[in-house]
Amino acid sequence: GSSALSDYDKLHVLGHGNGGTVYKVQHKRTSAVYALKIVTSHPDPLVRRQIFREMDILRRTADSPYVVRCHAIFEQPSGDIAILMEYMDSGTLQTFLRSDHNNSVSETMLASVARQVLRGLAFLHSRNIAHRDIKPSNLLVNAAMDVKISDFGVSKVMCRSLDPCNSYVGTSAYMSPERFDPDTYGSNYDGYSADIWSLGLTLMELYMGHFPLLPSGQRPDWATLMCAICFVDPPSLPEGASDEFRSFIDCCLQKEASKRWSATQLLVHPFVLCKLEDKSESAY
Ligand code: ATP
Ligand code: MG
Repeated sequence: GSSALSDYDKLHVLGHGNGGTVYKVQHKRTSAVYALKIVTSHPDPLVRRQIFREMDILRRTADSPYVVRCHAIFEQPSGDIAILMEYMDSGTLQTFLRSDHNNSVSETMLASVARQVLRGLAFLHSRNIAHRDIKPSNLLVNAAMDVKISDFGVSKVMCRSLDPCNSYVGTSAYMSPERFDPDTYGSNYDGYSADIWSLGLTLMELYMGHFPLLPSGQRPDWATLMCAICFVDPPSLPEGASDEFRSFIDCCLQKEASKRWSATQLLVHPFVLCKLEDKSESAY
């Protein structure tokens, strides 16, 4: 395209991730505002090839309103990659955990979050793309309360350990049980149902105000976390949650991947349908 990185002014840093930094930037001539993610170059050619695969995915996901739009990708001489994205002015769902919402988000709001993320996942899965890193910080929000999926593992791939023995580097607390199982991982593992598990944990976390597999305030250490994911019954919602929400979470958090509902199935789950018909709550 005709656009170059020098056409944009950096305004300020929006946040840091594992593999890079995200800036708020402004196009010099049009004044349009974007988010620019700079992913630092990686020395391993295999990792670099994976990054280019992820960049291809980004280019193919431009036409869903439930996926953060990627406007351009700039490859710099240094090997760094700059990804120009739609700017989401209300940050991520992670900020809702830290803000003044009394550490919990209403079911009506969660049903809306669920519907939007499920529409995004249904779009991706129908195009044979698994996201693999659904979590609150990868779900971005704007002032209209649109929720969009971002981050196709670009940064995660960047920092994956080169040591094959160190298989837990580059993993996330939102990983499903089958991703720890060498028999399923890489063979019939497709990642679609893993996205659903991650979504279930994400919605629970937003409701409870803390990561549901660990007691509130506990810092994740891998041994405890892996035990909680693989060897303990899936978590269930605390008292006070509705039957529909409880059932929805159960459909997401089946330990056996084949028993989890698909994104398309969950889009017509009573939790998503009923809660959104209930306009009495004014969260939206
Ligand atoms: P990870 O490295 O595991 O993806 P992360 O999601 O926190 O962790 P980044 O994806 O690098 O890290 O994003 C860093 C922060 O930048 C986010 O938490 C968010 O606050 C902000 N951010 C990212 N993309 C955008 C965007 N399109 N619009 C507005 N803010 C964004
Ligand atoms: Mg991210």
